[in-house]
Order: sequence, then structure tokens, then C-alpha cells
Amino acid sequence: QAWQDQVPTLPYDRAMAAQAAERMALARRLREALDKREFELHFQPIHRLSDDRVVAVEALLRWRQHDGGYVPPDVFVPLAEASGLILPIGQWVLEEAARSHGRLAGRGLDHVAIAVNVSAVQLLTEGLSEAIVGLQRKYGLPAGALHVELTESVVLRRPQAARVGMLQLRAAGVRISIDDFGTGFSSMAYLRDLPLDCLKIDRSFVRQVHADERNASICRALIALARGLGLGTIAEGVESAEELEWLRRNGCEQAQGYHLGRPVPLERLLDSIGGPG
Ligand code: C2E
Ligand code: CA
Ligand code: CA
Ligand code: CA
Repeated sequence: QAWQDQVPTLPYDRAMAAQAAERMALARRLREALDKREFELHFQPIHRLSDDRVVAVEALLRWRQHDGGYVPPDVFVPLAEASGLILPIGQWVLEEAARSHGRLAGRGLDHVAIAVNVSAVQLLTEGLSEAIVGLQRKYGLPAGALHVELTESVVLRRPQAARVGMLQLRAAGVRISIDDFGTGFSSMAYLRDLPLDCLKIDRSFVRQVHADERNASICRALIALARGLGLGTIAEGVESAEELEWLRRNGCEQAQGYHLGRPVPLERLLDSIGGPG
């Protein structure tokens, strides 16, 4: 009878059921979120470490709630991917990013690229590069204005199809970064074989890199690997001056993180980095 007390079957099942119900309710509201204009893009600056200039910004999707709060993308993006909603949502993200680049250009910041997160479903669906070319024309974007960030899961599931999609993006003048590198089932073969421009060092490796010898080893190796393959490097999640200095000294090219700037709406970004106007 003692062991029965230690197996909390019922409360556990109830918690699971409650969680599943919550996810279903969220998925239902997600379906209406586009029509209700509940999405926003926030932008986080990416700095070049040789001269500290902002060379790009990463567009991060936000889902605004009635109470003014936000559902984090880690929660709703997987739901959107599972339901196929990521296609119209992803299209909205691309259009909003393109429109935002036009506004950057209006402030003399047309050299600042916008990096957009693109999910597997989007890359593997026909027409992504055509959609981007269409937006480049519609908003008069210079070549290289939009970058795309892909995670390794995309590439590993269907490497051949991913390769085709990536070559089309490249042909449209889009630079491609591999996101969260080293956190999943990384493969050296795809780093070698796929058309990539840049490797993003996950923030779990950047944390305390100046003091944590294990993370320092990983970062040094990733920077050397990227350089050997002719790829750029962007460190994410830089939260302190010490981490930033370590990365600069060790040859990392670019960095983003709370220490350099949090993701903010375009207006606020323009206030902080925007020139006159
Ligand atoms: P990600 O692409 O790895 O984006 C970086 C995440 O780290 C962002 O979380 C950003 O706000 C956060 N971050 C930036 N600097 C720091 C820092 O110094 N410290 C810490 N602790 N965190 C930092 P966010 O905005 O919650 O996005 C989470 C994930 O959701 C993204 O991870 C990306 O995978 C996904 N996501 C966001 N926007 C989109 C989108 O438009 N489309 C798709 N498919 N996925 C998106
Ligand atoms: Ca990203
Ligand atoms: Ca990342
Ligand atoms: Ca991530």
C-alpha cells in the first residue's frame, strides 16, 4: 500500500489532460489570430564585432493577447507547424519583414538586413523563393535585404528537398544561416554539402563563455569550423560585456543578445539605431 501512495496516477493524468485541452484552445485561437491582426514582429539587433555596427536585425514573431501579454513563439510556432497554419503565418512574417525593410531604408538604414526564421514546412513547400522575389519587387528591396534562418531539423529530415529549396533562396539573393547549430543531431556532412552562408552559435554555448572552459572549447571549435568552411559566425544570447569581449577576441564575426539589445517593435528599434528622420 506504501508504493501506491508514491504513484500519483490520477493527478498526473489530470494535469496532462488539462495541458492538452489548453493546447487545443490555443490552436483554435491561433486560427483566427491572423485575421484579427494579433501578430507583431519584434526586431533584435545583430552587431558586427569588428566595429560594433548593427548590420542586421532578427525578426521575432509575437502573438499579442487581449490582456496585452504575449504567447511565446516556442509555444505557438510548434502548434502552427503541426496544423499547417505556419504557411499563411510565415507568409505574413515575410511580408511584414519586407515592409519593415522599406522603413529601415527610409531612415538611411538600407544596409541593415532583416533575418527571418523559416520553418521546415515553409522551406519544403513549393513557392517560397518566388514569394520572396515577389516581395523584393513589391517593396523595392536591394539584393541581400532578407536573410533566412533555418534550424538543423529542417535540413536533416529531407536533405535533398532542403538543398533544392536553399539553392532557390540563394538564387533569389537570400543569405542562409543555420540556427541553433550543435543543439540537435548536427551533422558535419550537411555543413559541408549544403549552400549555407552563416552559422549561428546557440546561446547555450555562449553562456559564461569567458569563464566556462567547456563552452569556450565548443565556441572556439565552432568559430574555427565556420571559418574553415567559409561561413560567417553569429553568436546568440550574449548577455554580458565579458561574453562579448571573449567572442570578439576569439574571432566571432557578429553577435546578438540582451547585452546588445532586446527584441523590440520597429519604432523602438528606429529610435535606438535609426539615423535622422
Ligand atoms: P531563435 O530563432 O533561436 O531566436 C532566439 C531567441 O532567443 C528569441 O526568443 C530571442 O528573443 C531570445 N534571445 C535573444 N537574446 C537573448 C539573450 O540574450 N538571452 C536569452 N535568454 N534569450 C535571448 P523568442 O523570440 O522567444 O523566439 C523563440 C523561437 O521561436 C526562435 O528561436 C525561433 O525558433 C522561433 N520563432 C520566432 N519567430 C519565428 C518566426 O517568425 N517563424 C518561425 N518559424 N519561428 C519563429
Ligand atoms: Ca533564429
Ligand atoms: Ca537560435
Ligand atoms: Ca532557439
